[in-house]
Amino acid sequence: MKETELDKTRRYLRAVAPLDLPGVPAETHWSVYQWLPAFEAWATGISLCGQSMRQGPLPAGTTVSCMQCEEWRPRYERMLAPGYRPQDDDPELLRHRVQLAESQIESVRELVAQWGAAAVDRPDAVILVGVAADVLSAALNRAVGR
Ligand SMILES: [Zn+2]
Repeated sequence: MKETELDKTRRYLRAVAPLDLPGVPAETHWSVYQWLPAFEAWATGISLCGQSMRQGPLPAGTTVSCMQCEEWRPRYERMLAPGYRPQDDDPELLRHRVQLAESQIESVRELVAQWGAAAVDRPDAVILVGVAADVLSAALNRAVGR
């Protein structure tokens, strides 16, 4: 993809070079690349590890050698992906969702056990698939509090 085809509402990760100063290691880093409406231009910022960088991305495919930037990369990739929701990085919310999912599974398990017990008591019992789906759906909605 050519840089001119980038979505100006999105931000991207790009490899960048450090400032050309004595004592600054010649490592490559990751930086967020975004459209700046005020300047009508794409620009890179500081590195993910927090250092000042030369302006502008390095060519696509450039290897990033800074290990600190590499450690941050997966998190930034998630944050910069379309459809990212900040709560996806909230451990409390994620824990709550797992508990909710577990309670849904538990109520489905109980329901299936009830059906099994009912079938044992009444060998002639026939539960139509549609009715079973409705009951299952109601149980799941109850589990998520709808
Ligand atoms: Zn770095």
